Amino acid sequence: MCFETSQIELSGSALRANLRFLRKMVGPDAEICGVVKGNAYGHGIGAFVPLAESCGLKTFAVANASEALAVVNSRTAESEVIIMSWVENDALEWAIRNGIQFYVFNLSRLKTAIALATRVGAAARIHLELETGFNRVGLDADGLRVAVDTIKSHAGAVRLEGVCTHFAGAESVANDSRVRDQIGRFNEHCRWIEGQSLTPRRRHTACSAAALTYPETILDMARLGIAMYGFWPSKETQMHYLLAQETSFTRRPRDPLRRVLRWTSRIMNIKRVSAGDFVGYGTIYLTTRVERIAAIPVGYADGFARGMSNNGYVLIRGRRAAVVGYVNMSVLLVDVTDVADAAVGDEVVLIGSQGKRSVTVASFSDLSRSMNYEVLVRLPAGIPRTIVE
Ligand SMILES: *Cc1c(COP(=O)(O)O)cnc(C)c1O
Repeated sequence: MCFETSQIELSGSALRANLRFLRKMVGPDAEICGVVKGNAYGHGIGAFVPLAESCGLKTFAVANASEALAVVNSRTAESEVIIMSWVENDALEWAIRNGIQFYVFNLSRLKTAIALATRVGAAARIHLELETGFNRVGLDADGLRVAVDTIKSHAGAVRLEGVCTHFAGAESVANDSRVRDQIGRFNEHCRWIEGQSLTPRRRHTACSAAALTYPETILDMARLGIAMYGFWPSKETQMHYLLAQETSFTRRPRDPLRRVLRWTSRIMNIKRVSAGDFVGYGTIYLTTRVERIAAIPVGYADGFARGMSNNGYVLIRGRRAAVVGYVNMSVLLVDVTDVADAAVGDEVVLIGSQGKRSVTVASFSDLSRSMNYEVLVRLPAGIPRTIVE
């Protein structure tokens, strides 16, 4: 039974292809950590994690404890879980008891973790997040010194699973010198840590853009989000990759990434509107001919950006149909005058392919002036996710 007005399909073959490509890019030895924060970038942790495990992933990163719990509840193997952002103290105790790894980005976190671990009688599995120039959170050189001493004197209570940092925008060449400075500082810190005879299990810095643009950032593990789902972090990252591939001009390089997600709904109604009439709320859309207007039971409450008003398009019977008028909270209208055989009940593709055409998240985000990351994570958790080939 389906109660929902739209559906999301996740393609197993697309995910396998993306992971094959990313494996080639990071090399055989680096661990691939699948980043599944933001409800797996809108793909749905519950459906995505088991699918990713079936494709060989064994490590997942999330933003907070609630997402970590979602991964624990959906994983089908003993996959590792890393929390990259904030954990409340209650949840921190849960994390330690359950072997969930988490970032430590300041000294008070480290003290709390050690105190809880000592009480619980299990080691806190921590990743030291280092400040290298992002200036969000992270230990500076002095903090790192104290942290390393503290870890060495509480060897039973902490396990140093990783040392890591995050780049301030590896997807844009405008940030190149800032990113290179960060790489340099991180490597310096790592050398210093090794000099303290402390060996972190994994050094990791790369997100998708860094892994694809700065291979030296891959180290022992890459934290890959957007590319795993089949999206380029930016046009620049895509161009960087394509130009590096272009060994001859006779063959255009194929895009190695395939979109995992497809979002669809159905036509709920079609009506004929005379020429010269306004459609929907207000006066932003005026018909210029006799038009057939289809209603689709999806609106901004369902994650269809209101910025697509009079702007975006959907696919019906393999053809484009323009969004007309405002996107409402739960309904949007499209012009199907040129989709001659469009009928109530037809599949409507909101994001993804149908026949030879596709609606990309990029077009969606260009039109609604948001990032592709943002369009994806706004897809409500309540939309059912199904796995397809
Ligand atoms: C989101 C995130 C990533 C993944 O970034 P992508 O650009 O989606 O690959 C990696 N590391 C951290 C700390 C993140 O927050």
